[in-house]
Amino acid sequence: MQKVLVSGAGGFIGHHLTSYLVGKGYWVRGVDIKEPEYEKTKAHEFLKLDMRRWENCLTATRGVEEVYALAADMGGMGFISANHAQILHNNSLINIHTLDAARENGCKRYLYTSSACVYPEYKQTSADVVPLKEEDAYPAQPQDAYGWEKLITERLCKHYREDYGIETRIVRFHNIFGPRGTWEGGREKAPAAMCRKIAYAKLTKNPVIEIWGDGEQTRSFCYIDDCVIGIFKLMRSDFREPLNLGQDHMVTINQLALMVAEIAGSKIQLKHIDGPQGVRGRNSDNTKLREVLKWEPQISLEEGLKKTYPWIEEQVYAKERSLKKAV
Ligand code: NAD
Repeated sequence: MQKVLVSGAGGFIGHHLTSYLVGKGYWVRGVDIKEPEYEKTKAHEFLKLDMRRWENCLTATRGVEEVYALAADMGGMGFISANHAQILHNNSLINIHTLDAARENGCKRYLYTSSACVYPEYKQTSADVVPLKEEDAYPAQPQDAYGWEKLITERLCKHYREDYGIETRIVRFHNIFGPRGTWEGGREKAPAAMCRKIAYAKLTKNPVIEIWGDGEQTRSFCYIDDCVIGIFKLMRSDFREPLNLGQDHMVTINQLALMVAEIAGSKIQLKHIDGPQGVRGRNSDNTKLREVLKWEPQISLEEGLKKTYPWIEEQVYAKERSLKKAV
């Protein structure tokens, strides 16, 4: 059995990726500062380690041939726009130490999970945005510290490959969503937040749903099952440059809300309030993805939400039941 490390295996994508790799016959070591919250890990070994520390990264990467580097201090727009120093500090330490420990331990391949947040703000000023191609990342001007750190780690991966011969792969995710992801607490992303708000609206029979800004900002959303397939295909490919991984079908946040409401069977009333909105529009250009992987994400936003909403509704209802019991 080939041995691999998934860092961030207690998080949303890392947990799903761990299950996928175990299903493919890999021996998986999961590492995170916390265990997965909603389901037991399928990892053969799970270590709770703080990967900001070099010695912990050495432990994490010992004896594995490949590393899937997903650990990050991250969250949705609200979190990312309010914690620049913490994010830049923590993620820089995590990534510098994980990559260098992988080199020190002789790991052969390393996949780094970057983000569409690397793309410059000046290319995303209109809701009707031109889809972003990989080369659009330069001249660089990411909106947040989160994106700057991703860009620097992309460079680090390139230089470690060129200077030390470790085969690096770089994936740029565009808004991944699905069940068993953070859905409350401030780190959740738009689809999960929307599902939660609409589940509470249904429960409390209050149809008012708050949306940050005018809701006309656009995004594309990619379902988790497509995401893990794409990660695996990229790791196995010989493509060494950054690659988008996302859906290329864009919707407004208002449309996202109406789609979730339809799935929930709820009538809602949108209330637009002040709040962080990120860039005005963002979409993935999947030309290179199709060319390199001979594949592209298959699951539509609606199909994905039909699997995600019921899971979040169940979490909301379970939480309400346990709060009532505690009173
Ligand atoms: P997540 O927050 O669910 O998972 C990240 C995990 O990293 C968490 O479990 C967290 O505990 C762990 N972590 C944080 N600090 C750590 C530390 N010091 N040591 C060890 N583990 C630590 O996020 P996710 O959505 O699963 O994202 C995975 C990766 O994909 C991240 O690198 C993220 O930046 C990237 N990404 C995600 C999206 C998305 O839409 N979800 C989009 C772009 C990029």
